[in-house]
Amino acid sequence: MTSLAETDLQPATFDVRAPSDARTITALPDRSADEVAQICGELRAAQAEWEALGPDGRGRHLLRLRDWILDNETHLVDVLQSETGKVRQDAGFEIAGSADVISYYVKHAGRFLADEHPRPHGLLTLSKKFTIARRPYPLVGVISPWNFPLLVPTVDAVPALMAGAAVALKPSEMTPLSLVELGRGWQEIGAPDVLRVITGTGSTGAAVVDHVDYLQFTGSTRTGRKIAARAGERLIPCSLELGGKDAMIVLEDANVERAVNGAIWGGFFNSGQVCTSVERVYVHEAVYDEFVAGVAAKAGALRHGPDTVAGDSDVGAMATDNQVGIVEAHVADALARGARALTGGGRGHASGSWFQPTVLVDVDHSMRCMREETFGPTLPVMKVKDAEEALRLANDSDYGLSASVWTRDSARGEALARRVEAGAVNVNDMYTNVFSPPVPMSGWHDSGVGFRFGGAAGMTRYCRTQSISTARLPMRNELLWYPYSKPKSRLAARVVRFAVGRGKRRFRA
Ligand code: NAD
Repeated sequence: MTSLAETDLQPATFDVRAPSDARTITALPDRSADEVAQICGELRAAQAEWEALGPDGRGRHLLRLRDWILDNETHLVDVLQSETGKVRQDAGFEIAGSADVISYYVKHAGRFLADEHPRPHGLLTLSKKFTIARRPYPLVGVISPWNFPLLVPTVDAVPALMAGAAVALKPSEMTPLSLVELGRGWQEIGAPDVLRVITGTGSTGAAVVDHVDYLQFTGSTRTGRKIAARAGERLIPCSLELGGKDAMIVLEDANVERAVNGAIWGGFFNSGQVCTSVERVYVHEAVYDEFVAGVAAKAGALRHGPDTVAGDSDVGAMATDNQVGIVEAHVADALARGARALTGGGRGHASGSWFQPTVLVDVDHSMRCMREETFGPTLPVMKVKDAEEALRLANDSDYGLSASVWTRDSARGEALARRVEAGAVNVNDMYTNVFSPPVPMSGWHDSGVGFRFGGAAGMTRYCRTQSISTARLPMRNELLWYPYSKPKSRLAARVVRFAVGRGKRRFRA
């Protein structure tokens, strides 16, 4: 029998499970607050040297990491598939996306981080030289979810590393394995000790929030609120990329075939476990029947099951059984209130975490599938009489992550897009902004605070700005400095009025 003292010495662990067949893959350390504090201290100690390397020096390490990712693609896809149950093509997307984001930030970091020299404003500072310098938050924490276990933390960690920060990565306890592999890769390429993967459950994540200088979080709105509260107490900035309930609006002049294909991929890619999945569709009555027939036929033809060769299956398992339960509950609620499932509607496999691609019709806004984030392979479709009704329903949501508008008239599409309450809108497209570092990905309303990507801002958000002003004229004194006197005060007041009032108009007043 194990004694109490021995039990105390056992490091805490948690199990990692394969969702496709429910087997336990391994157990990993559930890091305590003390361990997190120690790791964060070590990362801090290594950061100054990393920052001193400059963008070019840091970029060389990141490019080696990119090569390592590409050279280990098959292994990483195996690991991703084992921990998430996703099909190989969806796992491969994480590899390509991670490599691409490294290329982007390495290429542009020098320019993004360069000093700026704004022109002085007004007479009083005319002779000064201004510099805006950027210094990284020394330690950035990246806490990530289970739907893209490699891609999501990588796209957030790379700009932080390139900005000169050290990074503590806390993967989801459901899918930590591919990120642990990335951490191993970072060591294998011989890079400085400024990137660590800290495995553990929610309390490990909470400890990370307690020890970093900037917190980048991707996950549920519920956890995001807790993190924002703690970040507020600590007065550290945080960026929160949270849940979504993305609307798709199909107008009467849409290319229906393209819209059907967009809806199918947008709803079922990664088993619908994408923050920007299509979660509800509003279709103009003129094309509703054609659209519904199309999605039902194509969703019904999707192959739902595991694959060992990319392309052998279309839709994989879901990452957690808990999430299957949420999808089941949303579908059951819809069916009980009068909706119909044209395809799927159930698990489709006896063991493991599966749910079939499911097209729901006759849905309305009283149903959970139209109001709450489902985060699974469902496509609820609702008929609307015109664009205004579609817009009103699309905006009737607590979330505002992204949306799409489908019409042959792109000017009309863009005009409608501007009226959608969401951080991104794709016109006749699906997910484009998510693959595009030049444009920001930001959630409105309950979908988040802050943003990722967005060109230079996607990297400079990890920096503190420092304004350096230098006096260029060798004057012994300045107009505003001591000693004060009546004539000097009058002159100063006049100069200020002239400068602030812009010109002679208010000089005498
Ligand atoms: P989650 O909030 O349950 O967990 C996310 C991470 O937070 C995990 O690593 C978890 O261990 C950690 N965590 C839990 N409690 C914590 C605490 N108190 N303090 C600090 N960390 C804590 O989310 P999930 O279920 O893993 O992910 C699914 C959600 O992520 C969905 O809502 C989805 O929409 C969202 N998501 C959003 C985006 C985006 O870019 N907006 C991208 C992917 C996923």
